[in-house]
Amino acid sequence: MTPQNETPVDAAERQTAPAMVCYEVNQLPDSKLELLQRARQSMTKVTELIVAPRDGKSFEVPAGSFFRIVSVDGPQVGDLNLWNADDLSERFFSGKTRQLHATHVGTGDRLWSTLPGLRPMATITHDTLDWYGWDQDGGGIHDVIGTRCDPYTNHMLKNVDYHYCCHSNLSRALAEATGRSVTEVELDVHDVLNVFMCTGFTRDTHQYFMKASPVRPGDFIEFFAEIDLLGALSTCPGGDCGSGHSDDSTPCYPLKVEIFEPADGSLGDWKSPARSGYSRSHGL
Ligand SMILES: [Zn+2]
Repeated sequence: MTPQNETPVDAAERQTAPAMVCYEVNQLPDSKLELLQRARQSMTKVTELIVAPRDGKSFEVPAGSFFRIVSVDGPQVGDLNLWNADDLSERFFSGKTRQLHATHVGTGDRLWSTLPGLRPMATITHDTLDWYGWDQDGGGIHDVIGTRCDPYTNHMLKNVDYHYCCHSNLSRALAEATGRSVTEVELDVHDVLNVFMCTGFTRDTHQYFMKASPVRPGDFIEFFAEIDLLGALSTCPGGDCGSGHSDDSTPCYPLKVEIFEPADGSLGDWKSPARSGYSRSHGL
């Protein structure tokens, strides 16, 4: 939209104020990435599951284990939710993860939990798409800037009911895991990590864009579970998200989840992180 207000005389001065990174990320708790990367060398797979196209599935990962999301059969993006397995009110905090790390996450970055927990739930220990970096459009992989596709937005834009958006896939997966109704658990479904998705903001209008994911069968992203986790993964009806989504017309593929146990003693003195130490008195 064309501005409705005159440009002030000191506009250039105001607009060239230096950009400051908001958080001193070098003050974050140590991720012990070197220890985790040594431990992953000797881990063994304990279980795996397949998430069918346009569906969702839940899985549990004990603290101190690793899990991978693996591309199989064809390019496919996944929408990931994580909860504290013992307390679903503590869940993945996409917005704070974005502020602490970046718009897209990769090896060494951590997935933080909601307030008042605010602790790392998982640490990314390997990413076979780390070569991608930032493309000429400013796009990157594994974003925390978008959120899940959902039937409410679809209904608003197209006036149709479509039941296999990521929000619904995650809701059905969580309903199955907890035995609660789908309308109840959908309130626990939250902003996702967009696994393998290639996204960014357009340079001219800063609108959220997606483009075909560069993921290929065999690619994976790997996480270390910092606390006992309940996860749910949706295979997005957008497939590789190179065209549309929220319908049944796009080619879609399964995703595999693999869970690994580290060898005895390989984690040394690693301990599950505690919840935030803030008093929660909020000035009262
Ligand atoms: Zn989706």
